[in-house]
Amino acid sequence: MDIREQICAMCRSFYTLGWVSGTGGGISIRHADRIYMAPSGVEKERIQPTDIFVLDLQGNPVEGPGNPTLKLTECAPLFLSAYDLRNAGAVIHSHSMNVLLATMLAERRAHPEFVSVLRFTQLEMIKGLAGHGYNDVYELPVIDNTPRECELTDTLRQAMQLFPRSNAVAVRNHGIYVWGDSATHAKTQAECLDYLCEAKVRMRQLGLPDPADAIAVASS
Ligand code: ZN
Repeated sequence: MDIREQICAMCRSFYTLGWVSGTGGGISIRHADRIYMAPSGVEKERIQPTDIFVLDLQGNPVEGPGNPTLKLTECAPLFLSAYDLRNAGAVIHSHSMNVLLATMLAERRAHPEFVSVLRFTQLEMIKGLAGHGYNDVYELPVIDNTPRECELTDTLRQAMQLFPRSNAVAVRNHGIYVWGDSATHAKTQAECLDYLCEAKVRMRQLGLPDPADAIAVASS
């Protein structure tokens, strides 16, 4: 499928999941030395292939959309960080309600104070995350939100470097950035993380023991 078509199809699919409603969220795919990005501030489920921005690997626009009133997303420097630091093939920014609620449960750390952590273990879906098995502890970094999306860039980059085993960085009270080797890989990582965050919130809601809490207690 053409990259532009693929971004439009993913936007429609993620809209039905509530990940990109209200013009929020975003998707970007890299192909060779070009990066394709959905525009900002528009209904994501209605984006057309001609609305997609094309950038070089440094983030300079090389091809604008047919409609000159469309704006490049404020997520651009965040997407570029995953291409730059993690050699990603695609990046998804979701405003998933499951992730949003889970970020509110993230434990604050003393160092560095801007990154909190959500831990997951002994849940089958962890096996879907790159490099993790059922009994592994997956640590999802959660950075604090900022008034403007682009202001997240520095802390997101630091979290990427502090948590090299995570294919995602969540943003407290906001959502998540997830990347993968390809658009399909980024999508499956985002699906697994959405599922795991929903499981964490529901375990808390139902008063069920979270296997990650038992490990945290055992190691403290
Ligand atoms: Zn956002």
